[in-house]
Amino acid sequence: MAIIIDGKAVAQRVRESVKAQVEELKNKGISTTLAVIIVGDDGASRVYVNNKKKACAEVGIISEEYALPASTTQDELLCLIKMLNDRSDVNGILCQLPVPDHIDESAIINAISPAKDVDAFHRSNVGAIMLGDYSFLPCTPAGIMELIKQYDIDVKGKNCVIIGRSNIVGKPMAMLMLHSDATVTVCHSKTKNLKEIVKNADIVIAAVGRAKFVTADMIKEGAVVIDVGINRDENGKLCGDVDYENVMPLTSYITPVPGGVGPMTIATLMQNTVIASKLANAFFTENN
Ligand code: NAD
Repeated sequence: MAIIIDGKAVAQRVRESVKAQVEELKNKGISTTLAVIIVGDDGASRVYVNNKKKACAEVGIISEEYALPASTTQDELLCLIKMLNDRSDVNGILCQLPVPDHIDESAIINAISPAKDVDAFHRSNVGAIMLGDYSFLPCTPAGIMELIKQYDIDVKGKNCVIIGRSNIVGKPMAMLMLHSDATVTVCHSKTKNLKEIVKNADIVIAAVGRAKFVTADMIKEGAVVIDVGINRDENGKLCGDVDYENVMPLTSYITPVPGGVGPMTIATLMQNTVIASKLANAFFTENN
């Protein structure tokens, strides 16, 4: 029988731990602040930013929002980032992606101080992840690793197939699974024989962005299936990349959408912000 991974419950536990850490810092006179930048009026981005602000309020992190019009120039945005980099009371900075087309996304990501880069998208943080020697992990892959840990899922020596090779999910996910001793295959839009490759997987991580892309005939009996996708089905209902109804009975563990990976992403962002605050204040405890 499949075990349904409860991302909401695990995320709640992570947020409680973050709240206690924020409180501990406060007792030492240290506040923790996250600056969130949003450019333009993309509806989905607005929802994500609101959720991040709500999560900050819940755990006691001060959030500052910088909502800029879509006409903001790259120089204006870089100026704001520089100001936030220079402020010692700001611990984490994130710019909600995507930014409007006239702004170079990578210039923005790499302008954020690596020590405040709580999304872990800066090239030096990406390099650190590759080497396995990092301060921050990107929120979604790190959230998935926490789910795997909390459910005591054995990764060592397992065939792990990741579908998707984005910088935000697929690639860092591959690194983290590799660091955990899985045998990793990364598939993408040009992969041949995808079905055969996925069918051989003990662990499947789907980050494609296509509703119900992973079907039951692709899944080996007893596989662990992690669904990162956030899509709408033909009826406008939220769904993942996995055909959940038909795949679930075949699996040993599976994440639902919603309530699986999603809640972990924001919980990890909160954790990263506290880590940034501790590092900035040279205060670090072992139970991190
Ligand atoms: P992306 O568009 O950057 O990447 C999609 C990847 O899928 C690409 O690497 C592409 O090569 C691959 N792909 C596309 N078609 C394919 C095919 N036919 N066969 C195999 N691979 C194919 O997307 P992303 O940013 O990695 O996000 C993926 C999904 O995860 C989206 O639905 C996104 O909304 C969701 N997401 C969820 C969270 C969360 O917190 N739950 C966080 C980030 C992204």
